[in-house]
Amino acid sequence: MRRRRASIGLLMGLLAMGVSCATNPYTERSQLILLPTSYEDKLGDQAYAQILKDPKVRISRDPKEVDPVRRVAARIIDAAKQSKYAEAANRFAWDVTVIKDDKTANAFALPGGKIAVYTGLFPIAQNEAGLAMVLGHEVIHALARHGAERMSQGMVAEVVLKGAEVALQTQGVGAPMKSGVMQALGLGTQVGVLLPFSRAHESEADHVGMLIAAQAGYDPQEAVHIWERMQQAGGGQPPEYLSTHPSHGTRIKQLEEWMPEARSYYAQVPHAPVATLPPLQGR
Ligand SMILES: [Zn+2]
Repeated sequence: MRRRRASIGLLMGLLAMGVSCATNPYTERSQLILLPTSYEDKLGDQAYAQILKDPKVRISRDPKEVDPVRRVAARIIDAAKQSKYAEAANRFAWDVTVIKDDKTANAFALPGGKIAVYTGLFPIAQNEAGLAMVLGHEVIHALARHGAERMSQGMVAEVVLKGAEVALQTQGVGAPMKSGVMQALGLGTQVGVLLPFSRAHESEADHVGMLIAAQAGYDPQEAVHIWERMQQAGGGQPPEYLSTHPSHGTRIKQLEEWMPEARSYYAQVPHAPVATLPPLQGR
């Protein structure tokens, strides 16, 4: 009874902090989000710090790997700042890391703007336009608050509310870093294990990610090519990015449906230079 009263009090507190139903400005999908952005950003920052300090994680300092990723990320971030997500994109303290791991064809972007790309993605992305499509997709998961939405849904709600309670009381960050939170952000308990978002989130990230990448000056047709390469790569074993980003039959068809909208963005901006990504060095 006492606990319930405390939860209601917490909920009222969260509502007072501007937590509410949101509508995606591009797809008009309504979202129930029970977390303030400040808290969500903090969770993203913590998860990122936790991953980067993991002794198993090797951070690339090789300019051949880091420079193209930074170049593409900078254009995607600039486009996001001019998009309908401008408020969030300007609030985020963006950071970009390249992780040396040729076996992991993956990337992620966390709330608060923390981006990581694994070198194993390079052969599938092939060039900076391919990378832009993946980063556009990942950045939309963060900007459209998919992690917070997932945290607000049943499975991990209690963990998060408990964590939020602690965070609100102390402004500290210890307790929230439970596996449920990592899971909601799309990260497994082990570094490098990314968990699938829902189909609605994937679809939204595909759609709006392609628009943002086009606005950043990259040919949206590359979105179709990269999904084709994902499917071809790995033979029987799908690359990790595909296993966490389910490939259903309608995906490429949907991309084609959104293509005219994306082309109209692409037609209005100066086109980005598109260099080939470096080959893997057999690490
Ligand atoms: Zn995704």
